[in-house]
Amino acid sequence: MQTNILGYPRIGSNRELKKANEDYWAGKISLEKLQLTARLLRRQNWETLHSAGIDLIPSNDFSYYDQMLDMCIMTGAIPSRFKALKESLVTPSSPELYFAMARGYQKNGFDATAMEMTKWFDTNYHYLVPEFDASQQFRLLYNKCLEEFNEALTIGIHTKPVLIGPVSFLLLGKVKDETLQLPALLNSLLPVYIQVLQSLQAAGATWIQLDEPTLVLDLTPEQQDLFRQAYTRLREAVPGLKLLLTTYFGSLQENTQLALQLPVDALHIDLVRAPEQLNTVLELLPENLQLSLGVVDGRNIWKNNYDRSLSLIKQATAKIGQDRVSIATSCSLLHTPYDLELETAEETLSPQIKNWMAFARQKVNEIIALRDIINGDTASLAANQAAMQEKRTAAIIHKPAVKARLAALTEADARRKHPFSTRQQVQESVLQLPLFPTTTIGSFPQTEDIRKLRADLKKGVITKEEYDNAIRKAIQESVQIQEDLHLDVLVHGEFERNDMVEYFGEQLEGFVFTKNGWVQSYGSRCVKPPVIYGDVERSAPMTVAWSSYAQSLTDKPMKGMLTGPVTILQWSFVRDDQPRSETALQIALAIRDEVTDLEKAGIRIIQVDEPAVREGLPLRKADWQTYLDWAVKSFRVSVAGVKDATQIHTHMCYAAFNDIISNIAAMDADVITIETSRSQMELLEVFSTFRYPYEIGPGVYDIHSPRVPTVAEMIALLEKAVQLLPARNIWVNPDCGLKTRKWPETEQALRNMVAAARKMRSEQ
Ligand code: GLN
Ligand code: ZN
Repeated sequence: MQTNILGYPRIGSNRELKKANEDYWAGKISLEKLQLTARLLRRQNWETLHSAGIDLIPSNDFSYYDQMLDMCIMTGAIPSRFKALKESLVTPSSPELYFAMARGYQKNGFDATAMEMTKWFDTNYHYLVPEFDASQQFRLLYNKCLEEFNEALTIGIHTKPVLIGPVSFLLLGKVKDETLQLPALLNSLLPVYIQVLQSLQAAGATWIQLDEPTLVLDLTPEQQDLFRQAYTRLREAVPGLKLLLTTYFGSLQENTQLALQLPVDALHIDLVRAPEQLNTVLELLPENLQLSLGVVDGRNIWKNNYDRSLSLIKQATAKIGQDRVSIATSCSLLHTPYDLELETAEETLSPQIKNWMAFARQKVNEIIALRDIINGDTASLAANQAAMQEKRTAAIIHKPAVKARLAALTEADARRKHPFSTRQQVQESVLQLPLFPTTTIGSFPQTEDIRKLRADLKKGVITKEEYDNAIRKAIQESVQIQEDLHLDVLVHGEFERNDMVEYFGEQLEGFVFTKNGWVQSYGSRCVKPPVIYGDVERSAPMTVAWSSYAQSLTDKPMKGMLTGPVTILQWSFVRDDQPRSETALQIALAIRDEVTDLEKAGIRIIQVDEPAVREGLPLRKADWQTYLDWAVKSFRVSVAGVKDATQIHTHMCYAAFNDIISNIAAMDADVITIETSRSQMELLEVFSTFRYPYEIGPGVYDIHSPRVPTVAEMIALLEKAVQLLPARNIWVNPDCGLKTRKWPETEQALRNMVAAARKMRSEQ
């Protein structure tokens, strides 16, 4: 039985690649220095896996920026706006084209925007979207895969090169010309793959991993056919090479037959996300096909449950024998942090909780341990069982009061007292806002000074009292600015927050934070998600003091500002011992307590941000409604405890609403603010068609740029909005929070925004 790792983190255990990339971009280090860092990181990974005893060690899983971008360079899929840069800049010693595609390029009279970025399936990793246009001619531009295979060989390690499979590469890209047909594109793409595979074979490679995660998505018959075409041709071209086809992030379902019939040597399936598919796959497995069992979770930070994995492995070996089975991670370990052993600070991560966790390095050992146990060496089994057993009953995880409260939740707890039409009238008479009320989304510029305050408090350079005073001063200044600007609904500015999830996680029970648990989000950007390990509970108010202080400074309504349950869930590592829906509802109850406390403290408008609702959608359409039901319910539970007069806002950005508009309406928020300026209000159309009854603030300017929008531009957008929605329901606000902006442009933009709103009022 072989052991198999699909991919390993590449940013470095201390984020060395991030730093080297950023230093290189800033001109602080040479290209040689950057390449040396990269080589060391690859070497470390290979040696780690080699000395652990892993059989199938990945290569070409390294990337300076993104694995899909690597594939674009490999196959010559260079968008036409980069063509002028292409010929001179494509050699490995000149990564200028590569980084230009990733980050945009503005130099030497040359101006090209970066390639689009989007989420890698349902992970928080973002890939660069390949673009295919009619002038597309694939050709082998740079054989990075072969280089890295050879590089590993020189240190005596025989690796398994990893490539994104040709069909997924095409399906995850964007076809820019309607005339382009996927079968034709595939036809011209395959020779490049064949060339690469043949070069690898000639270099001595035995196994090649071809990642086809799109096999767990809903596929049309035409798309399914692409797989047959592709693999038949690859098989013919390299009959002697062993092809491992990997699927991950879900179940093959109706694509099972298709996957099993492709002429490859081994199929990898994700048994963490979809353990139930093992039965069917074993049932239908052709004679000669080997099976790679993804039993160790590549998406999470929890220790593997050996008993559960062993029963899956044994089920497979009983049916097809050990020779045809390998034990693997469910997907690449890219989505997990490096090494739990780097977490040495007991005040952040207690030994008890640490004993339930496993990062990439530990997961490698788990794969080895599982193999050893199967082979009769059961030394590690008892400790694993003990950890699992302790987790099942640990008092810091399981809180009877939280579970009881969740069990007692009724339909009524998720329902406001009266329908929106009644609430709207009550709110109008209480709040007395003008038509087209103006507001902002929550955060104001996080200046150097503000960031330093938080750092100084953490380091103990300033006392809590000094910190509180300084934050109060920032709030006071921002309230003054907002009053001077004549905004109608004010915010306190979120100066006390590092991050919209971390701020709440740090105050809620059931969360822990790591010191070094970084995972790549895109390029050089890494995130350190909070870890939800146990039942979630609020032990004390989290924002009430700041919000009521801010309200005390003004007669205008001060908006309370919270992060919603779905977003907190979505941007954390979530416990794996209960359904996500249960964890979401626990968070919802904690937020509900905060919402009612804000109301009691005299806050009349409360915003609960849910930017992550859309990205939580399951990969398969058939699973959408179940998710949306509990996601919407969680939001409703979090806000439904208030009186009719209290106005509930929510905010979402980066989202299209076409296919989920009825669920957005079901959230029953009195006001929703959304990002719309970049689409010129196009995103608003569905609200109109749907006759969305609630109030909406369609963002009138893009906060991602320092550019100050003119009054006329914003009026033009608002005129469009008035065509689509009743004026009574329209708010005026930016697309999102302003924390990444500077004060001067912020004030100027908001001044223009208020002027635009006033002009609109005067015309009604
Ligand atoms: N209230 C948050 C802010 O203004 C919302 C951020 C977001 O939507 N991502 O920063
Ligand atoms: Zn936003």
